[in-house]
Amino acid sequence: MAGPVTFRPREAGRGCSSEYPEEHKGEAGAAEPVEQQRSHTPDAAARVESYALKDSDPLRALVPTGVEARLESYATTTLRLTEVFFSLQGETSRAGLPTVFVRLSGCPLRCRWCDTPYSFQGGETVTLAALLARVADYGVPTVCVTGGEPLAQKNCLSLLTALCNAGYSVSLETSGALDIGKVDPRVSRIVDIKPPASGEAARNRWENLAHLTPHDEIKFVLADRADYEWAREIIQVRGLARICSVLFSPVQGELPPAHLADWILADRLPVRLQVQLHKLLWGNVPGK
Ligand code: SF4
Repeated sequence: MAGPVTFRPREAGRGCSSEYPEEHKGEAGAAEPVEQQRSHTPDAAARVESYALKDSDPLRALVPTGVEARLESYATTTLRLTEVFFSLQGETSRAGLPTVFVRLSGCPLRCRWCDTPYSFQGGETVTLAALLARVADYGVPTVCVTGGEPLAQKNCLSLLTALCNAGYSVSLETSGALDIGKVDPRVSRIVDIKPPASGEAARNRWENLAHLTPHDEIKFVLADRADYEWAREIIQVRGLARICSVLFSPVQGELPPAHLADWILADRLPVRLQVQLHKLLWGNVPGK
């Protein structure tokens, strides 16, 4: 897989019109700064203008449209950030892949077994440009945007699109309580369905199912046998396994993974059991 394009906003006072190799100084033509060329003769300005790409020039198609405006918006768009960290992906079909995690702050839900309550409040305000630069510093092509509930911030949509535009393979972990319909379709959406023991089953936004494709994944985090039977019913009634991969995770410390495995096998459910790899490796610690 190709590596991501490293994003660096253009620095003030730098650029192709005012910077050129030392050995080219004094040569005629484009190697000189535009301002100097314009001061030489009246003809020089017209000569420089002729180097600009006309709309009819076939090379024009190679210049992405809206790039300047996009970079400006990266400098003014802000997000509330809990942490950026580098670890192995612990869940989903990407489990085991070195991944940069962007954990956004805030969540309107309060799942009983939530393992990231430190993301509910606080965090730092960062620009989209600064956040992209921090992700690029890790130099890996896989990024996971998580929370909290990342979609609780409207600028999360801009972040996801910017990451895709920069060439990353992007996944989004979301509670399933908010609209996923406006998420960039290049993003792999990992959508929770909250079972009763979470305390948040009433927040499931069932309309989200209509947006899912085989590129996405559905996740149930299950605390007990009652949760399991509820999830089994939902899968059958709504035909979830025909939409995309379905993941079952046991709540750590409440449901032994082997019990869940036995139930899945007994029912021949078309789901994937997952244990949180990062917790097996490092325990439940922030930043891993
Ligand atoms: S949706 Fe996620 S972050 Fe929010 S309370 Fe539930 S488990 Fe925690």
